[in-house]
Amino acid sequence: ANIIEIKNLKKSYEDGHIKALNGIDLTIEEGEFVSIIGPSGSGKSTLLNMLGALDLPDSGSINVAGYDLLSNTKLNEFRGDKLGFIFQLHNLIPNISVVENVEIPMFTKDWSSKQMRERALNLLDIVGLKDKAKQMPNKLSGGERQRVAIARALANEPSIILADEPTGSLDSKTSNKILKQLTKLHKEENVTLIVVTHDMNVAKLADRVIEVLDGKIIDGSEGSLLNSE
Ligand code: ADP
Ligand code: ADP
Repeated sequence: ANIIEIKNLKKSYEDGHIKALNGIDLTIEEGEFVSIIGPSGSGKSTLLNMLGALDLPDSGSINVAGYDLLSNTKLNEFRGDKLGFIFQLHNLIPNISVVENVEIPMFTKDWSSKQMRERALNLLDIVGLKDKAKQMPNKLSGGERQRVAIARALANEPSIILADEPTGSLDSKTSNKILKQLTKLHKEENVTLIVVTHDMNVAKLADRVIEVLDGKIIDGSEGSLLNSE
């Protein structure tokens, strides 16, 4: 089944002078791992923002996990219930512990504090950081913080994870570790994974690579053109 259906999506800035998205057509299946590539300024982040209902498109249609994102209703419910975000600027909260950071997205659920703590520790275990649960974020390395962000992105049992350059500022050893965790979680929990990257080593791990240029998809919108394996 399709979890994402986008038709003729348009978004412009500066009174229409900048056409950030210029007619995007895209369908993504539940459980797919899709990477989005393209030069700087081609519209990748704008597309990711539309998928996360962080910004509204001008026209077209966009349906994600059963939510019509143009109707402008229930968008908070959609974000809290369905999405996990891994964005570079989505930093950890510095004055609470690692495990408490991971618990933050769980407050949209009806879970007891015991259930939340158990799930958070499990997620930290999956990303290899259970022994750092009680640490404050500033005691962790960049790679460890990024892995905490991944655990946090999974906290609310999202159907979809949106990641913007998840390994952007990391060395290749750390970045490989994180990618392994991400693909493992994607496979084990059937999460739909959408990753914007300029790194072909990251892009090629995906089931499908979508190339964006000048606000349009020039390759990969129908899938399977660049399968990894
Ligand atoms: P990418 O992520 O591929 O680098 P973006 O989606 O960030 O591309 O940007 C697409 C185009 O839209 C660029 O020309 C960019 O300058 C412009 N743009 C993005 N966000 C804004 C904004 N908030 N205001 C004005 N222009 C923007
Ligand atoms: P990773 O590969 O997971 O990013 P590193 O090899 O960079 O981990 O770091 C190894 C250990 O060094 C970590 O357990 C971390 O506690 C410590 N460390 C690394 N960088 C920092 C830092 N900037 N501040 C505090 N501790 C750090």
